[in-house]
Amino acid sequence: MKYLSEYRSPELAEALLKEIRQSVTKDWNIMEVCGGQTHSLVKNGILNMLPQNIQMIHGPGCPVCVTPVSLIDKAVHLAMDHDVILCSYGDMIRVPGSGMSLLEAKARGADVRILYSPLEAVKIAKENPGKEVVFFAVGFETTAPANALSVIHAKRERVKNYSILASHVLVPPAIEEVMNDELSNVNGFLGAGHVCAIMGIYEYYPLVEKYKVPIVITGFEPVDLLEGILMTVKQLEAGEAKVENQYARIVKEEGNTKAQQTIYEVFEVTDRLWRGMEVIPMSGYKVKAAYRDFDAEKKFNIHIEEAPENPECIAGEIMKGIKKPFECQHFGKKCKPVSPLGAPMVSNEGACAAYYHYSGIAEQVEA
Ligand code: SF4
Repeated sequence: MKYLSEYRSPELAEALLKEIRQSVTKDWNIMEVCGGQTHSLVKNGILNMLPQNIQMIHGPGCPVCVTPVSLIDKAVHLAMDHDVILCSYGDMIRVPGSGMSLLEAKARGADVRILYSPLEAVKIAKENPGKEVVFFAVGFETTAPANALSVIHAKRERVKNYSILASHVLVPPAIEEVMNDELSNVNGFLGAGHVCAIMGIYEYYPLVEKYKVPIVITGFEPVDLLEGILMTVKQLEAGEAKVENQYARIVKEEGNTKAQQTIYEVFEVTDRLWRGMEVIPMSGYKVKAAYRDFDAEKKFNIHIEEAPENPECIAGEIMKGIKKPFECQHFGKKCKPVSPLGAPMVSNEGACAAYYHYSGIAEQVEA
């Protein structure tokens, strides 16, 4: 297929659905790792079209959702107390911290700016030599190359008033965390296509070997998702567990090696705290010592007490697939996109926001 529209073809989708119905004989729980996949599944009504013995479980692949409260607090602290120009991707500024969100900080006079690229933040730093500029560098492996590149660019251009507040997280350790949870009942995974476009596929072979679960690297359009589900079901029904690549038009076995080199020039792997979960060993990136002048945590010597997560929000259970958004007592009531209690209701990739906007359940809850 050549055109995007073909990946949205109702005829192709129906043919794949028919094949899924014919292939499945047992109950299977399949986790789509990426929040973009969750939104596409809910928005396109795919969850309701699948046979009842296939349950899609929504995974932890929403970068905004997994960023811990303490990191939001650090960003707010920088914006409010250090008078920096705090630059961020859009979704992050609405995520509640323990005290306030970046949006509330902006309303109180902090200079918080929404950008589409960290390179814009380097430009702002050049234009404002008397101010410190910090980019809130969150995300999975997908956004890490651009954030690393901004640091390399700033160093090369001798921009000394630019730094990043980095909190990158990695997909393979998150899959391990899901599989190690005793409440988890995931039988197979749709791997996150965009992450694998950068990192390749090789990291998934040891997981398949260790946990004996199929992992099918999958895209985001309806036909991609249905094909990924079909490939997973076929493996499960055959008692197989291997890595397959549904998204081969984008994902190469080795990934984007140039992007990987850029990441490893600036970042190194470290333990990371995930929102609603524990610290997951070796599950994120931190800025290497060679680039410490561009590491906002070091530059501003930030020491903030770890604030607890909002106890009313069950984001951890949602992101590990243990509960569905509508099983949260606050879904559509106390927690809505205009007044979110937790990050999964804020982000474009959050499971709670997907169900709120597209599933029709929110209307029933609110009625
Ligand atoms: S509905 Fe709101 S409070 Fe409940 S888990 Fe989702 S974000 Fe948290």
